[in-house]
Parts: sequence; structure tokens; C-alpha cells
Amino acid sequence: MTEPLKSILAARDERVNLKMQLSRKGWPGLSLTLNVPGFPKSNQLLKTFFAYCLRDFRYKLKAYQIDIIDNEAIEMGDAAGDFFLVPFIPGVLRLQEIKHICEDFEQNHPLGRFIDADLNDQAGNTVSSGKSKLCFFCLERPAIECRRENAHEADELRAFMFPKIAGYNQQQLETSIVKKLSSLAQQAILYEVSLTPKPGLVDKLSNGSHTDMTYQTFIDSTAAISPWFGELIREGLAFRDKDLRKALPLIRNIGLRMEASMCEATCNINTQKGIIFLMGLSLFACGKLLSQSHRFNTDEFRRLIGTICQGLVKRELADSTGSLKSHGEKIFLKYGFGGARGEAENGFETVFRHGLAQLNSVDQLNEEALTKSFLAIASINNDTNILYRRGPQVLTTFQNLCKSALDNYNESNYAEVIDFCKNENISPGGSADLLAVTIFVRLVIRADERQEF
Ligand SMILES: [Zn+2]
Repeated sequence: MTEPLKSILAARDERVNLKMQLSRKGWPGLSLTLNVPGFPKSNQLLKTFFAYCLRDFRYKLKAYQIDIIDNEAIEMGDAAGDFFLVPFIPGVLRLQEIKHICEDFEQNHPLGRFIDADLNDQAGNTVSSGKSKLCFFCLERPAIECRRENAHEADELRAFMFPKIAGYNQQQLETSIVKKLSSLAQQAILYEVSLTPKPGLVDKLSNGSHTDMTYQTFIDSTAAISPWFGELIREGLAFRDKDLRKALPLIRNIGLRMEASMCEATCNINTQKGIIFLMGLSLFACGKLLSQSHRFNTDEFRRLIGTICQGLVKRELADSTGSLKSHGEKIFLKYGFGGARGEAENGFETVFRHGLAQLNSVDQLNEEALTKSFLAIASINNDTNILYRRGPQVLTTFQNLCKSALDNYNESNYAEVIDFCKNENISPGGSADLLAVTIFVRLVIRADERQEF
């Protein structure tokens, strides 16, 4: 007998032993293993797959309220592969019903044919339902027969299994990235909207300089645009073209749908067009970045955003030939400021150099930290919302007030900024959008530090 085979048999004996130990305590047990032909029985790919399976198996057992004794659970890897065993306290469900839950788990899992979810009774004996599983490779004969007769080469079986498992692992990873980033984007937008008080902007207690929208309008539109975040991230994860400028139409395609959802939710009030553009780019770039390296890298993120938007200001503002000029085009032609497009083309310079600097030094994203970040952005940003409504002089005064409120931060200096916006009837919406992006980036950086991607 070969060495690997000997150690596999020894490992299998040990498993029987562990089940017997449970039975001596009067407990039935549930176990999970992978059905891996050949050697070795485990590697990094299989370990990752096993961890996903185990997570799902545990949830399945909990969902059926099977009373597993978690502190007696055994999770290990040896010559026979990855292995999980947990005793449980018999409850309302009969053992045959629990066996059925195990079979159901295997059958409903997309790669369930590679998984063995087993049950043993209080005496340590395997509980069988009497059904035989089909061989996962030929799908013609019972697995047990193919195995007994060595009907298929181990190498052939492994070459069949491993790519499927790699694909599954990748899918699971992407799903968790999508969930995490979507949740951070939503969190960032809600933090910005909820920051109270804010100068000229909608917050929890005031509509600022707006007559057509309230805090609730923002909640409505945030709820309407959030379901699209995942699609933006997935576009980024899947994007393989070397020419990043080809990404912009893909992002726009989703962005336009988000605008339609926003308009539907707000009866055509433009609450979040700016943030749809900026967050759309950010989520796409995060997806692209994490598909490359599994880590978030600030410089690379900025480079991606800048490259995706390369030439945007010239193309859409300077050289625009459209007869109906947008606010952005009019402002650009008059003052030469590129607004959100310019900020994106610069790789979010205001966000990283000014907004983020205020948040990096604090542990808690409390109201004071967020307000300071807003002031740092607003004191630099040539906010096209203010320019459009009131012109460059009012903008300069506003920027200076923000700067002194930041340099000497206290309630009365901040109140001066708020009063100024009220008297001038202005709303620095562009800076508010940049604050939301700043918060998002900061949340992503922290999640990356905790290795949550
Ligand atoms: Zn077969």
C-alpha cells in the first residue's frame, strides 16, 4: 500500500473514532466532507470551497433549528481532506427528516455532487435514506459502483472538478464584494444626507435653499438608486478591455437607468444626478480594482477614475456642439470650471487632497469630522451649483467663509456659513456629492484594512 493511501485510511479511521466519541456522550452528529478523488485530498482551492460549503451548511442547519452543539464542533484538514463534525441535541425532527435536510443541501447546492453532508445516529452509525447518488462524472451509474470499479481516472475526475470549483469560488468572492461595496455606498450617501446642520443643503431638520425637496425626497431617491450599485460593481469586476475609456458608456448605461429610477421616485426632482455619476464611477473602479488584486489601492483607484474620464471635459463641455446647453456647459464656457466631470478627470483630487485628509485622522465618522470634511471640500471646490445661481463673487465669499470656519472650527463660525447660504439662497450641492464620495472612499479603505474584501 502506498504512503498517501495509508495516511488516508488512518485519517478515515480517526473520523470514525471521533464519531464514536460523540456517540459515547449520547449525541448524534452531522458531518461535512468533500468528495475528492486522487491525491492530495485538499489544497487552497478546495479549502476555500469547503469554507463556503461549511458556512452554507451551518446556515441550513440553523434555519431548520437543529440544535447543534457548536463548542463541540470539530473542523480540521488531514490526509483524507477537509472535515467538519458537529454533535446536536435531538429535538422535534426525526433522524430521517434531518437526513432529508442533508440530502436537500447537497441537491440544491450548485456543486452539491462534490459534497457529502452526512448524519450519524447516537450509536455512531451512518443514517442512510436508501437512495444512491449518481456518479458526478458520467451521471449514468451509481457513484459507489464507479468508485468501486475505478471506472474513471482520478486525474480525469480532478480535471473535471477543479475548474468548476474555481468558478464557484470566484462567484462567491464577487458576490461578497458586491454586497460589501453596495452597502458602503449606501452608507456613505445616507451619512451625507443625514449630516445636520448643513449650509444651504437638505438635512434632517431643514430643506436649506431648496423648495422642491426634503429629507424624505433624498431617502426616496437613495432607496431608488441603491439597487443598481451591484450592477456597477459587476461591470467593473468583469471589465477586461485595456482601453479604460471604453468603460464610460457601460457606466452611463446604468447611470441613466438610475436617473430614471430617481425621477420615478421623486416625481422628476433631480436630487442625486451628481452622486449617480460620481458613485457610478467609484463603484465601477472598485470592482475593477478588486478583480485585479483583491486589495483597494488609493493611487490605482485614482488612476482608474482619471483614465476612464480622460478628455471628458474637453469632449462634453469645451467642444460640445449640442444646441441646448446644460448648466455644466454654460458654466464651463463662462468660467472654465469642469464641475463633477473635471473632478473625475483629475482622479477626485478634491476628495483625496482635502475631504479625506479630514477623515483620515479620526476613528469615528461623527458629525464634527464629517462637517470638517465638508468645509475642506467646499473651501476649494468651484461648485457649479453656486456659480450657476449666483456667480463667481458669491462663490469666492462662500469658499473663504468655509475656509475660516474650518481653520477656526466652532459653532458660531459654522453658523456664519449656514446663514450666508440662507441669505444668498445658494446650495453647495457639488460639494455635498464630493463629501459622499469622500465618506465612501474612507469606508472602503477601512474595510480593506480589515481585509473584508
Ligand atoms: Zn461514473
